[in-house]
Amino acid sequence: MSDDLSTRLVHATGPEPQFGGVHAPIHPSVQYAYGDVQDLIAVFQGKAKGAFNYARQGTPTTAALEGLVTELEGGIGTVSFATGMAALSAIFLTLLKAGDHLITSSRVFGNTNSFFGTLQDLGVAVTKVDAGNVAAVEAALRPETRMVFVETIANPSTRIPDLAGIGALCQARGLLYVVDNTVTSPALLQPKRFGAGLVMNSLTKTLSGHGEALGGAVTDTGCFDWSGYPNIFSGYRSGDPRGWGLQQIRKKGLRDMGGTLSSEAAHRILVGAETLPLRLARSSDTALALARHLEKHPAIAAVHYPMLESHPEHARARDWFGGCGSWMMAFELRDPEQLVPVINRLRLPLKATGLADTRTLIIPVAPTIFWEMGRAGREAMGIAEGLVRLSVGLESASDLIADFDQALG
Ligand SMILES: *Cc1c(COP(=O)(O)O)cnc(C)c1O
Repeated sequence: MSDDLSTRLVHATGPEPQFGGVHAPIHPSVQYAYGDVQDLIAVFQGKAKGAFNYARQGTPTTAALEGLVTELEGGIGTVSFATGMAALSAIFLTLLKAGDHLITSSRVFGNTNSFFGTLQDLGVAVTKVDAGNVAAVEAALRPETRMVFVETIANPSTRIPDLAGIGALCQARGLLYVVDNTVTSPALLQPKRFGAGLVMNSLTKTLSGHGEALGGAVTDTGCFDWSGYPNIFSGYRSGDPRGWGLQQIRKKGLRDMGGTLSSEAAHRILVGAETLPLRLARSSDTALALARHLEKHPAIAAVHYPMLESHPEHARARDWFGGCGSWMMAFELRDPEQLVPVINRLRLPLKATGLADTRTLIIPVAPTIFWEMGRAGREAMGIAEGLVRLSVGLESASDLIADFDQALG
């Protein structure tokens, strides 16, 4: 079809053949029945592509969403999950085992960081590095290193790892490179371009965009050679090796662990995704205007937004994300005592966690989403005590700037 993402997205599904409905139907069935039991047997044995047997492993509706995410990421296949965390935990629990070593950026989403504690208890060694420089990743390599994990724009610090350098290192060493693309989304970046083997998206955020559906997805980009990966179960080592990784994630991570996306949520995410490029462009423009304004404000100590020239990885953001800085930004006040009063004086941003809603959301980071790890943990992850995270919505830039001006006094 067209090269234009908006054109492709609004024509991605429908009209459906039976009644001409412009949306594909939502499939609620748990069971899928066949007239000839040989057909049912073929589904169980993986010989009937695109057929279903039990909804825990997927439905026509979740499959439609998986097809869309695969296309957006330029991948070879996708497995969807109930949440982004279900997708991430499925990657780590199905592809790593005791004795393996994982290298991760020290700047990751708080719940992902918490999950790494669980992984360590299960016998997987985890090394957290400053992923801004590939040298730190290289220095952490061990013979048992299996996987390297980063986020494209770290939540909430907005720091950007050396995505290209780490990708080249992983390719040279045959390591699985896993990239969390949640904050950028495939509309800003396909991590495949840097050699990522697996890409995770929390569909709850940018893809869905309206704060009313949870979902997650793992996409295989086709870049990784699974035939050399030691943790593929022997039963899954047959047929085309390109499918081995996702087959293991679907069977061990989705079927056995059961974090399945519902058809209803998949439908909502599909509808939300239709406006992805419009929402991203609007929020990014607004975020940049607000960031530039806040950076000059005397009450503000620091503004973290990738499209500001002052951002330490501004050049990466400019070169890699099509000149777009996404909807996430963070700032610090000069006077930390003013944190609560200033946030309370804001009228438009909702005081709420969450990201990439149509409404602007604001949250002080240390006492909420990064509270559990304590002050030392926050310091190790580069989270300042006075950091405020902002998810910029679809309000006008001038309305938001006026609101911040009155709140900052
Ligand atoms: C929100 C988020 C997740 C988890 O996604 P859920 O859908 O909320 O489980 C993972 N990674 C990043 C970067 C996130 O922002």
